[in-house]
Parts: sequence; structure tokens; C-alpha cells
Amino acid sequence: MKKQRNNFTSLDYFRKTYNSKSICLQEVFKARLQKTPFCVNAPECNAPTEEFYVLNVKTGKFICKNCNYTHSATEGTIFGNTYIPIEHLFDMINTFMHSRHGWTARAMSAECGYSERWCFDFLREIRELMGKENKRTFYGFIESDETYAKTGSNGRGRNYKKKRGRNNDDKTPVMAMLQRGKQNKVIAFAVKDCSALSLIPLIEKHVVKGSTILTDEWGGYVSLNKKGYNHNVVKHKEKEWVNGCACTNNLELFFRHFKRTIRTYTCVTREYIQDYVNECVYRWNYRTEKDVMFFSLLENLPPLKFLPKL
Ligand SMILES: [Zn+2]
Repeated sequence: MKKQRNNFTSLDYFRKTYNSKSICLQEVFKARLQKTPFCVNAPECNAPTEEFYVLNVKTGKFICKNCNYTHSATEGTIFGNTYIPIEHLFDMINTFMHSRHGWTARAMSAECGYSERWCFDFLREIRELMGKENKRTFYGFIESDETYAKTGSNGRGRNYKKKRGRNNDDKTPVMAMLQRGKQNKVIAFAVKDCSALSLIPLIEKHVVKGSTILTDEWGGYVSLNKKGYNHNVVKHKEKEWVNGCACTNNLELFFRHFKRTIRTYTCVTREYIQDYVNECVYRWNYRTEKDVMFFSLLENLPPLKFLPKL
């Protein structure tokens, strides 16, 4: 039997569902309220927000019924401080996330009719939100590996020679970890270099001790056994790709997706490479749950804050 496509993964269905200011505002308000259990007007009022907070859809402001504190529901998020209707922003974010290998500011500008500069800034803000995905903690079987992303394309003369791999000023190393399981979730970081000093602290921060880490024979990982991890190695130099349970092939799939995405954005500088890494990680981690992809981004919005009235 033909597998039916979930409606929520279709862009058209999304556009039709979230087509008015009130629906979108309520969605943002609901997501931010989950992180704010008590009234933000803290010392004066400690009413639980679920009961006392009400959203006025017309003005876009929320009000506390207990202390009458009023403020904008979108202030301090990517939906605030812009003249563009919130339903358009919703549509743009959704289209961006469901694109296969990224969406450039120029293409977005051509399709949506806003200036290229604004689109560039907006995409950057979305990528920043996506970065929250990188805070995961892993346990169990973790694959770890590095790749090199091309950053910057200045100063390429006729005599420019393409270089591969390490010792390359033109590229920035990106280190990634993958937790084996049903979903093969990934986290990735742009690093200064691939020395143990850069790699090990990242592993210690994001992987629970006692886990098994599967890597290639790169010297940066040698001290993992001492740090309280089980370390299994696969020797790529000797053309050995699988050794028992040790292999990094699942992660190579992520790198393939990452490199194709980077290629979409002709020129990425070293300064902003982490943003693009975040984007790839987010798209990869939700590749099988496209119906919740958009809403987990809303969960990353900051909680409601106390803002003095002007
Ligand atoms: Zn209150």
C-alpha cells in the first residue's frame, strides 16, 4: 500500500493552517509560556501564568489578570521588532527548514519579495535559534569524527591548488558526534584545530562518562581511555572501515549532507561557520520527524521577560 504523506510536512498545508496573525501569535505565546511558570512581574506578583496570563490577539500583547502587567508577546524574539506580518515569517521559517540543502538569502529575497539584506539577517537569527539543538548530552555508543569545511574564497589566483585534508588555511575543521540509536542524532562544532586540546573538552562536555566512543586512529583521541571512556578504533589508514562495532560510517552520511549544504552558500567565512553547522545539525536531527520540526524551533524561543514600560 502506498504510504500516505503526513499533512503537516506539506508546505501548502502549513501555509493554509497558519494563515492569520491570531493563530501564529497564539502559537508563539503558548511556546513561551511553557518556560515561564510564574508571573514575570516577580516580587509584586507570583501568579501562575497558565491561569492568569491572557493574550490579546488584536494588540499582540499579553496581560496578567492578577497584577495587570502588560507587554508584547513577541518582544525579544525573532518575531519582534519587524514590520513584516508574523504569518509570513512563519511561512519563511518553515520553507527554510524543509529545504533540502539550505536556502540562500538571494533565493529567499526573490521568492518572498523582501530585501536581500533583511533576508540574510533573518536567516542568521533562525540559525542562532537552531543552535540550541547542539546542547544535547549523549550516552551509549558515540561515533566521533572531524571534517573540513571550505571557508572563504578570497585570493585564489591562477596558481591556486586545491588541497585536501589537514594543514589547510582555507578550511575550518568541524567536529561531530553521533549517538547511535533509532534516530542517529548528531551534534557538531566548528573547532580551531583537531588537537586533543580542542576535541577532548567537547567530548567531556557532551558525552556521559562510561560511554563507548568510536573513532578513527587520529592521535587527538588517544587519551580517551584515561578520561573514563571506552575507546574503540577503526584504522582508516589500513583501509579498515569496520572493526566489530567500531565504524564512523553513519557520521560520514551527516558530513555528506553538511558539505552539500555548505556548497549552497557559495562563500562562508570562518566567523559564521558555526551558524551553518547549526543549521545542518537541526535539519539532520529532525529529518524523520518533519511534523514537529517547526514547533521544536518555537520551543527554543526565550521565556517571557519582565520589561519596564517605556
Ligand atoms: Zn502578575
